[in-house]
Amino acid sequence: MPVPLLDLEAQYATIRAEIDAALASVVRTQRFILGPAVERFEAEVGEFIGVRHAIGCASGTDALLLSLKALDLEPGDEVVVPAFTFFATAGAVWNAGLRPVFADIDPQTFNLTAETVRAALTEKTRAIVVVHLFGQMADMAEILELAEERGLRVVEDAAQAIGARQRIGGEWRGAGTLGDAGAFSFFPSKNLGGFGDGGLITTNDDALAERIRKLRVHGGRQMYHHEMVGTNSRLDALQAAVLSAKLPHLPRWTNARRAHAAYYDGRLAALEGRVATPFSAPGREHVYNQYTIRAERRDELKRYLDAHGIGNNIYYPLPLHLQACFAGLGYRRGDLPASEAASLEVLSLPVYPELTEAQRDEVAGRIEEFYGTQ
Ligand SMILES: *Cc1c(COP(=O)(O)O)cnc(C)c1O
Repeated sequence: MPVPLLDLEAQYATIRAEIDAALASVVRTQRFILGPAVERFEAEVGEFIGVRHAIGCASGTDALLLSLKALDLEPGDEVVVPAFTFFATAGAVWNAGLRPVFADIDPQTFNLTAETVRAALTEKTRAIVVVHLFGQMADMAEILELAEERGLRVVEDAAQAIGARQRIGGEWRGAGTLGDAGAFSFFPSKNLGGFGDGGLITTNDDALAERIRKLRVHGGRQMYHHEMVGTNSRLDALQAAVLSAKLPHLPRWTNARRAHAAYYDGRLAALEGRVATPFSAPGREHVYNQYTIRAERRDELKRYLDAHGIGNNIYYPLPLHLQACFAGLGYRRGDLPASEAASLEVLSLPVYPELTEAQRDEVAGRIEEFYGTQ
């Protein structure tokens, strides 16, 4: 039985009437640019995330870019980013006129730690972009402490982590509520996915929110008057309507992802030594945008799963410090060993909410078969 890595048609089938009605209502009013559908979604998602300001924009990439631009850093200021993440994290830093400095990751969580950030700091460091990779938050308590100590701004790349939480000082805190700003993506494969591109910036800082709201409409509050050079990066009203219709389902979908992850954890435990299941750190709620294992003979396993129609992918095959476009920054293989090792060992498996019991049994069974335990 083939199992796709993601099945968006299956999701649409479960909520088709709600989505179609939401789209039709925007079409009826012809209010496509910002307007009521976007305002409504911003209010709803801001409440869900637990943050004062939620500002829609065109993509997760733009959410990072606008956040960084709004922080008023100087050209060439250094921003620490993980080497093991989706490209946009570092690309946005570069496009904001800043200099990405790559830090290594914790091999267990795949995230930055205060220690790996500290190793990347110089006199020119002004900010950190912390990624909550695969749906699990980085240890924000220790990173925020370091940022405070060194006077650094913090942007959370929460593109994969909507709804993820972490216990800090006895309180559960959500991804995107702890840094100066949080960046979210509604790319269709994210846990809350639109019918195209979309993004969101969160912040509890009123002044920062004001600057971000201006930046997304060419840098002015009043039409044709520009206090700063912004861009056109709005959340499309049709996307906002889809996302408002989907948002009430997100907690249920997240629970389904977590249940699939627990199932795989149980089945794959017998392969210890050959397969390492994702580490879920204590005091954190992982939302499993990806269920990412480390596998012995990873490339062979990938070919085996491909041959049997089991969806899988390598997120990410080449760490960012080794990308051709950053060759000028002078990094070498060996500089960030945990990121380099991860890129050679990781494999993500189907974990989307609509996965059936038979499908996840098939995925686990093929992995067992490959390692010869069945
Ligand atoms: C998806 C993603 C982004 C970018 O989001 P887009 O909406 O595709 O621009 C940024 N960072 C991470 C970690 C992502 O997974």
